[in-house]
Amino acid sequence: MTVSIWQADGAQPQQDVDFLVVGAGLVGCSAAWFAAQAGRQVTITDARDLALGASSRNAGFMITGLDTYYHHAVEQYGLATVRELWGLSRTTHRYLREFIRTGGVQVDDCGSTLLAETEAEARELEQAARAMESDGHTIVYHSRDPLNRGYCAAIEQPQDAAVQPYQLVQAIFRQSGAGLIPNNEVYRIEQDRPDAVTVYTRQFVFRARHVLLCTNAYSPALDPYFVGKVIPTRAQCLVTAPLTDGPVLNTCGYSDYGYMYYRDTFDGRLLIGGGRKQSKWLEGSTTDDRITDPVQQRLEQYLRARFPEIDAPVDQRWAGIMGFSVDKLPLVGTLPGKPNVGFAVGFTGHGLAMGAGSAERAVELLLKGTDPGAINAARLH
Ligand SMILES: Cc1cc2nc3c(=O)[nH]c(=O)nc-3n(C[C@H](O)[C@H](O)[C@H](O)COP(=O)(O)OP(=O)(O)OC[C@H]3O[C@@H](n4cnc5c(N)ncnc54)[C@H](O)[C@@H]3O)c2cc1C
Repeated sequence: MTVSIWQADGAQPQQDVDFLVVGAGLVGCSAAWFAAQAGRQVTITDARDLALGASSRNAGFMITGLDTYYHHAVEQYGLATVRELWGLSRTTHRYLREFIRTGGVQVDDCGSTLLAETEAEARELEQAARAMESDGHTIVYHSRDPLNRGYCAAIEQPQDAAVQPYQLVQAIFRQSGAGLIPNNEVYRIEQDRPDAVTVYTRQFVFRARHVLLCTNAYSPALDPYFVGKVIPTRAQCLVTAPLTDGPVLNTCGYSDYGYMYYRDTFDGRLLIGGGRKQSKWLEGSTTDDRITDPVQQRLEQYLRARFPEIDAPVDQRWAGIMGFSVDKLPLVGTLPGKPNVGFAVGFTGHGLAMGAGSAERAVELLLKGTDPGAINAARLH
């Protein structure tokens, strides 16, 4: 997002704010809630409006953990880090459950089911299951398909859930008590004094004590620090028309190493998402949230192949932009030379698993200097 000299030339009205959050998505609203709990006056600003980025376009899977299978995560990050990250995910879900309960958000306690499309993936799932069990996680391993749809094996996480993600962010925003200034792109951020940050936006020039960037996929367009660290990646979904025979799945189902996912919606449709594995060249490095034919065709083929009993037409299709971090872990830190400007980005398609807990750590880093641990962005320097 850029702003021309005609739209804003630096002479916009000045506004003093205490704690400014940039980005009114799941993570920005969660951060606003934590900053308010710490006694700060919070203002959120967004280029669009409340939750119109990935946070209201996702599949609403509240899945515990990362998208990397447990045994691979242990190989890649080490056991101590994996334990910390799964703990961060459980913490995130505890917060989300509270926001959901207080805010009357639609949720289905249907658990999640990670399914194997092939025998090779089934072997991976068995290894992941054994590693999770030996580390004390609550899972159920199935050596056969519990859904009877031709999958090869499955791992169930009974504590997981399917949520209405747009309602969730609206509820968090309401509970945060923060103010919101929508339709207001941020285009420059300067810290010229130790206790104040100047934030240029299309409508105002803010003077803030602290600023937190929760701009996920869009971060590289805002500050070059994020270039090469956060890669915007498109994800797409479709839903059928309402089905007459009740729910099809009763779980958050996902397979093909997370490239395919499917659930029932609250109004009786089947949602299918993913399908970008064969089109990474088209779906990577873009912030354009349009749908594309190859991915939509793949989603529809998957619908007809795995759910042959459904003949309802496809009713709606959409896309959103995820922020993949280079090592697939969230990034929490402060911008170089701008210690009062923090960030919580890079949720790699797992904001409902890691977002709120990461937002809490980002607020604590800014306000108290607390080390954000395994998600500290300093690991990439
Ligand atoms: C199709 C799809 C399916 C997904 N499914 C799941 C799922 O089932 N489970 C799960 O855990 N995750 C899922 N995700 C990922 C999840 O949606 C994200 O991880 C999460 O929404 C990230 O939240 P956020 O607040 O960081 O980002 P966003 O919701 O994208 O918010 C960023 C905000 O920053 C604003 N912004 C950006 N630049 C500027 C600027 N310069 N000035 C002002 N404002 C700016 C944007 O307008 C936007 O509102 C999915 C994503 C997609 C797209």
